[in-house]
Amino acid sequence: MALWKVLCAVVVFAILSPGSPRAASSPPHVLLISIDTLRTMNMGSYGYRRDTSPHLDELLAAGAKFDDARTVEPLTAPALASMLTSLHPHEHGSTRNGLRVRPNLFSFTKALGRRGYATGAFLGNWTLKDKLSGLAEHFDTYEVLLNRKRWFGLAKSEATADDLVDLSLSWLDAHLGASDKPFLMWVHMIEPHAPYRLRGAYLKQIGVKRAGSLLSPTRRYDSEIAFADDRVGRLLSEVYERVPREQIVVVFFSDHGESLGEHGYWGHGRHLYEFSLRIPLGITWSGTIEPRVVDEPALIGDIGPTVLGLVGIEPPDFIEGFDWTGVLLRGEDGPAGRVTLHQAHRSSVGAQEEQTRLRARGLLEVGRVADARKEVHRVVNDRHWLFDLEADPAEKRDVSAQNARPSAELQEWLETVRSGLAVADDLPPPNLTDEDLDALRALGYID
Ligand SMILES: [Zn+2]
Repeated sequence: MALWKVLCAVVVFAILSPGSPRAASSPPHVLLISIDTLRTMNMGSYGYRRDTSPHLDELLAAGAKFDDARTVEPLTAPALASMLTSLHPHEHGSTRNGLRVRPNLFSFTKALGRRGYATGAFLGNWTLKDKLSGLAEHFDTYEVLLNRKRWFGLAKSEATADDLVDLSLSWLDAHLGASDKPFLMWVHMIEPHAPYRLRGAYLKQIGVKRAGSLLSPTRRYDSEIAFADDRVGRLLSEVYERVPREQIVVVFFSDHGESLGEHGYWGHGRHLYEFSLRIPLGITWSGTIEPRVVDEPALIGDIGPTVLGLVGIEPPDFIEGFDWTGVLLRGEDGPAGRVTLHQAHRSSVGAQEEQTRLRARGLLEVGRVADARKEVHRVVNDRHWLFDLEADPAEKRDVSAQNARPSAELQEWLETVRSGLAVADDLPPPNLTDEDLDALRALGYID
């Protein structure tokens, strides 16, 4: 979407939304559950050999499970801003952790709020703090819980999934006790984000027996998934005790995946390989959405228009994401032949520099997926790859011609992203203290 459309969206939304009537029938509640850094290939429901995710597998099996979903940028704040706004990072402005989104953007959570929903977000990642991300304006209640120290860190820099479940349930109880309004509640758990801890209580479940293998990062990562999965199970059973499952839409997803040494790389954010680009995605609504697997390409920015569609609010025309409501409820066709576009930037701003420069110099890669062919151009060293994802899902073989250049379509996407990065008039300046920088460094976000 061109920048002028983004700005139009802000204005149109501001004019039309206040005072809009509520949907005629009683709308369902919405529960968003996201797990940071969870890659699909380490989940049972996506074919993993270890039993890391039994509760999530059960949730995904009970509704629509998306087998070909991707994030737009494999980094926390940019990806989650895109989830809320359906915009690409160069459009909403948060291309790197520590760079805030443009103010007054449209989001589906705001749209729900205008239709009478109470909206609450309970998040466990430092980079989502409002003063770094600018996301609080999209919710009535926005809490980034930072009540525990991580490893040997000096500052309290995170919350566990247990803490977030407790906090969100107390908000939910207060809401249900005081109001009959529908709610949207979002819980974002930081496990299994690096540095991976060992969750010894889950080793038996994931089939790890030998003491000598305990230090393997992948096994620690898997044990963290099992821990988070267990807390998702607790959250779901507690929510379903309070609200009949026929009255709540549950959306589960991750913001991005993780590279566990593949391509010589540990982490996420700096490359567009499938290990960090693909995300699990499921939408469950008991009695309304039939269990099924969706094969067509989906994006994290589809969550907004689809939630709006499911609760009976027509998504505005300017929303970029695809509304899957017709596919899920009426058996309509999905977006066949869909092309998806992606970008990677340096992880976090590490200094109080001039913001246009921070944005422009952060771009690392642009990518394009069409018909299972994925083209990636690495801007910083002018490298180019083409992968056949059907024959080579692990992206081990570059099938591009020797000395190949980006296709005209990818070149156009690169120019679009660059143009967006250059527009910074309405962007809030970065607002990081030394404490923020320390916390972001501990999460591996600063080079
Ligand atoms: Zn993340």
